[in-house]
Amino acid sequence: MTTEAERIDTEEIRANLAVVTQQIEELEQQFDRLAGSVRLLAVSKTKPIEAIQAAYDVGQRAFGENYVQEAVEKRSALAHLDDIEWHFIGPIQSNKSRLIAESMDWVHSIDREKIARRLSEQRPESMPPLNVCIQINISGEESKAGVSLSQLNDMVALVSSLPNLQLRGLMAIPAPQENFAAQCLVYKPLQQAFIELSKSDSMIDTLSIGMSGDLPAAVASSSTMVRVGTAIFGARDYSAKA
Ligand SMILES: *Cc1c(COP(=O)(O)O)cnc(C)c1O
Repeated sequence: MTTEAERIDTEEIRANLAVVTQQIEELEQQFDRLAGSVRLLAVSKTKPIEAIQAAYDVGQRAFGENYVQEAVEKRSALAHLDDIEWHFIGPIQSNKSRLIAESMDWVHSIDREKIARRLSEQRPESMPPLNVCIQINISGEESKAGVSLSQLNDMVALVSSLPNLQLRGLMAIPAPQENFAAQCLVYKPLQQAFIELSKSDSMIDTLSIGMSGDLPAAVASSSTMVRVGTAIFGARDYSAKA
């Protein structure tokens, strides 16, 4: 059943996508980035498959999910859209790693050795290597996931040695900062680490930073993939989730 509300949503998602896409194009120009060098990952967590379909219909192909079970269900429901790229961007419990290894195209949130090893072991041989980013804890908060930049070289060596993972780059979720300058300052060490790393390996082409609140700073700081949810799909209703 197609309700009035769903039709309006679809229109809104299309309009929002156009706005965000244009914003990214303008930021690329503003910060001397090549046109098309910043990809948009549409973060569809908690949103229904109709929302993903609406974005797909206007050309969006990369979608980000945070909850394993939800991601797996959406992938099966949309299996006929076989050029969707499914990105897992949430925290990973080790007992969920198999489902991720069997169903995702990318994982942005590799934050410890055990998870990297399990994902590689559990990746089916029939599938291409899993594209992964190492999550970096750039704000240095105890509670945030991710490896510190001082541990990065060891983590890169480990991930590179695992046969069924393809290291693509780095990801971070910084603590909120007051303004553009402060956001850039926090991103600076990460940006430098990414530039160094990408010189050493041509497959390393992804810096996954930038969310609705800090797109300009992320694009100024060499982001190649921004992760945007709310600005495309609207606010999330968490009351529905246990
Ligand atoms: C939810 C989420 C996003 C998108 O956040 P919005 O505020 O909805 O744009 C980006 N990255 C990660 C890791 C997320 O969990």
